[in-house]
Amino acid sequence: MTTGTLREVLASGRLSFSFEFFPPRTDRGERTLWEAVRRIEPLSPTFVSVTYGAGGSSRDRTVDVTHRIARETTLRPLAHLTAVGHSVAELRHIIGRYADAGVRDVLALRGDPPGDPNAPWVPHPDGFRHAHELVTLVRESGDFGVGVAAFPEMHPRSPDWDSDVRHFVAKCRAGADYAITQMFFRVEDYLRLRDRVAAAGCDTPVIPEIMPATDVRQIARFAELSGAAFPEHLAHRLEAARDRPADGHRIGVEHATAMAERLLAEGAPGLHYITLNRSTAALDIHRAVQNLVRSVHAPAAQLG
Ligand code: FAD
Repeated sequence: MTTGTLREVLASGRLSFSFEFFPPRTDRGERTLWEAVRRIEPLSPTFVSVTYGAGGSSRDRTVDVTHRIARETTLRPLAHLTAVGHSVAELRHIIGRYADAGVRDVLALRGDPPGDPNAPWVPHPDGFRHAHELVTLVRESGDFGVGVAAFPEMHPRSPDWDSDVRHFVAKCRAGADYAITQMFFRVEDYLRLRDRVAAAGCDTPVIPEIMPATDVRQIARFAELSGAAFPEHLAHRLEAARDRPADGHRIGVEHATAMAERLLAEGAPGLHYITLNRSTAALDIHRAVQNLVRSVHAPAAQLG
C-alpha cells in the first residue's frame, strides 16, 4: 500500500493516480471485478475506490468489497459513503465497520434520491441534509482521511455558481482533504471550477475523474448519470465507429489520454480513472499518460 495518508501524498507533490470500481451484482460481475483489481494492483496506485450503492444489498456489497481490498490486497481502499436513507446512528455504525477493517479513507457524499436521481432530495428524518455534515461525522469518528465530490459543470441542483462554490468550500472547511470530480469531457470545465474554488480562498486539491468514452451507446447514460456535456466531435467519431469496438476503444482512449495529459500540464494533482470494473481502457490511458510523465516531467513528478 502507498504509505501516508492521501492528504500527505497530495501535499508531497507526488501525482496521485487511482481507479474506481462499483459493487458487482452477480457472481460473474464479482469475478470480473477481482480480475480488474488484480491487474491494477501491480501498478501500486495511490488508492482504489468503491462506490456506495443506492440502497439495500448493493450497500453491503460495497462494504464487503472494500473490506476485502483492505484485507487481501496491497491496495489502499477509499470507501464511498452517502447519507441517503441512513440515520446518523447507522452512518456511525458503517464508519465503525470501516475502521475495524483497517479502511482509513472515506469519500463523504450526500448521494441522490434512490430510483430517480432527479427526484426531490428528502433527507432521512434522523440523518443529514448535506455532505458537509457527513464530513464532520467521519472526521470525529477517528483517524480518517476524507474526500468530497466536486462538479466541473456545477452540481445539477445548484441554483448558480456562487452558491455551488460556497457550499463546496464549506465542505472542504468542514475537514475534507481533497475532492474528486464528477466525470467531464472538456478540460476547460475543470479549470474553471478550480479557478473559482481558488478565488474563494480554498486550496483543497481537486482530482479530476477520467471516464473513457469508447462506445457511442454510453453517451446517453453519461448524460443521465452526470449531465456532463459531451463534445460533438467526439460523439461523431464514436458514432462512425459504432460497429467497430476496437476503433471505438482507440478513439475513447485517445480523447481521454489527451484530456489527462492537459490536466496534468495544467497542474491537476492526479487522475482518478473510472474502470466500470473492467480495467482495459483505464489501463491503456494510464500507460500512455505515464509514458508522457516520464519523458516530460522531472522524476519528482512521477505518478504515484
Ligand atoms: P452536497 O455537497 O451536499 O451538495 C448537494 C447540493 O446541495 C449542491 O447543489 C450543493 O451546492 C447544495 N448544498 C450543499 N450544502 C448546502 C447547504 N448547507 N445549504 C444549501 N445547499 C447546500 N453517489 C452515490 O450514490 N454513490 C457513490 O458512490 C457516489 N460517488 C460519487 C463520487 C464522485 C467523485 C462524485 C462527484 C459523485 C458521486 N456520487 C455518488 C453522486 C453524489 O452523491 C451526487 O452527485 C449528489 O447529488 C451530490 O453529492 P454531494 O456530496 O456533492 O452533496
